[in-house]
Amino acid sequence: MISRLHDPNYDRWACQIKRTGGCRQPIHLRGKVEHYDRATGQLLHRYSTIHEPDGVLRVPCKTRRASRCPACAEVYRADTYQLIRAGLVGGKGVPETVSAHPCLFVTLTAPSFGAVHVRREKNGKVLPCRARRDAETCPHGHVMSCTARHSADDPRLGEPLCPDCYDYDGSVLFNAISPELWRRFTLALRRRFAKLNGLTVKAMREHVSIAFAKVAEYQRRGVVHFHAVIRLDGPDGPDSPPPVWATADALAQAVDHAASVVTAEIKPLSRTFRWGTQLDVRRITMDGDLTEQAVAAYIAKYATKAAECVGTLDRRIQPLDDLATLPIREHARRLIAACMRLGSDPGLTDLRLIHWAHMLGFRGHFSTKSRHYSTTLGDLRAAREEHMRTEEITTGRLPLFDEDTVLVVAHWQYAGRGLSLGEQFLAAALTGVRLPSVGGAPQ
Ligand SMILES: [Zn+2]
Ligand SMILES: [Zn+2]
Ligand SMILES: [Zn+2]
Repeated sequence: MISRLHDPNYDRWACQIKRTGGCRQPIHLRGKVEHYDRATGQLLHRYSTIHEPDGVLRVPCKTRRASRCPACAEVYRADTYQLIRAGLVGGKGVPETVSAHPCLFVTLTAPSFGAVHVRREKNGKVLPCRARRDAETCPHGHVMSCTARHSADDPRLGEPLCPDCYDYDGSVLFNAISPELWRRFTLALRRRFAKLNGLTVKAMREHVSIAFAKVAEYQRRGVVHFHAVIRLDGPDGPDSPPPVWATADALAQAVDHAASVVTAEIKPLSRTFRWGTQLDVRRITMDGDLTEQAVAAYIAKYATKAAECVGTLDRRIQPLDDLATLPIREHARRLIAACMRLGSDPGLTDLRLIHWAHMLGFRGHFSTKSRHYSTTLGDLRAAREEHMRTEEITTGRLPLFDEDTVLVVAHWQYAGRGLSLGEQFLAAALTGVRLPSVGGAPQ
C-alpha cells in the first residue's frame, strides 16, 4: 500500500481505479491504440499503456456474479433491470405502447427430490417445518418429521431430512436437463396458444409473436427454477400490437398446459424429468399487485446470483480437489459428488456434469431472452462506453476525429488481473466500495 502511495504514477493509478468503478478484480491489459488518417496514412494519435502505471491499463472485470465482484455485478444488475423494464414499459428503443401488451410473470419450479427443511410463514407467523403426527421412519432411522420453526438464516434450510434417502442424482440431472425442458416449454406454449385460437403455429406467426425473458434461480435445496416474463406482441415484435383475440387469459391457459405436459428424458438412464407441480402465473400490470418495477427488480436481483447461495464453490472443481476437504456444506458436497460420479458415465458426457459440478449440474445461461424482448446488454454497454468516450473527448483526453476518415488500429494483450491486498484498501477508499472479507478467499 505504501509503495503504491509513493509511486510517482500514483495519481494516474488512482484515476484508473476510479474508472473501474471499484472492480474487485480488474483485468490488466497491455497494448496500444493508433488512429490513422485513412487518406494520407498519417498517424494522428497514439495511446500506449507503456506510460501507464506498471505498463498496464486496468479495466473492469464485468462479471455478473456478486460473490466475485460486487461493483461489476451491480452494473450488470442495473443493466438487466433496464433490459427487463424496457420490455414491460418501453424505453431503450422499445415503444411505450408495449405496456399495453398482455404480459405474464411465470415461475416454473423443480419437482421434489426428497423432503427438505423449509421455512413457511402464514400471516407473519413462522410455521413448523414439517410436522407429521404419524411420521414414518425411513430405512436409515430418520423420522420424517421436523417441528422446528426455522429462522430465515438457519443453515439446515433446503437440506434433506435424510441425506441417504435424498435423490441427489435426480437433483443434478434435473439441473442439467432444465435448459432443454425450458426450450420444450416455449415450443409447447406456442403450439398450445395457437391451438386455443384455432390456428396452426405457422399461421399464428402472421398475427402474434410471443417474447420471453427469463432468469434462473437456485433454490436452497440446490435445484434451479425459472422466473420468466412472457409477453404477447404483434407479428413484428414489440413495435406491433397483438390482435385483440390474443389475451392474457388465453396465454395463461397455454402456460398452464405447456408446463404440465412437457418432459425431457435422459435416455441412458431412462429417467424422465418434468416441471414441479408448483407453477405460479401472474399478470403484470402497471398498477396492480405485480408492477413492472417489481418484476424487473426481481429478475435483475437473481441475475447476479449463482449456486454459491446453496453453499457450494463459486469456481470450477479441479481434478486435484479433494472433495472431502473443500470448505462447503455436506448437502452441496453430495450434490457435487453426484455430478462427478454421473459425469464419468460415458453415456452422459453431453451433460458435461464434471465441468459444471460447482453449479450443481446447471450449465445454462442465467438470464436469457428471445430476440424481440427488448434491447440487449451489449447495446446498453455500448451506450455507456459511448457516453464515457464523449466525456473523454470533452475533457480533452481523446482528440475528436471523424469516424469515417480515421482508421483505428488496436493491439491488446491480457496481462493479468486483480489487486494486491494493499491496493484493495486504496481502491476501497477511492471508490467507496466495501472491502472483501480480509484473511481468506472472497466468499
Ligand atoms: Zn469487477
Ligand atoms: Zn426442519
Ligand atoms: Zn433415509
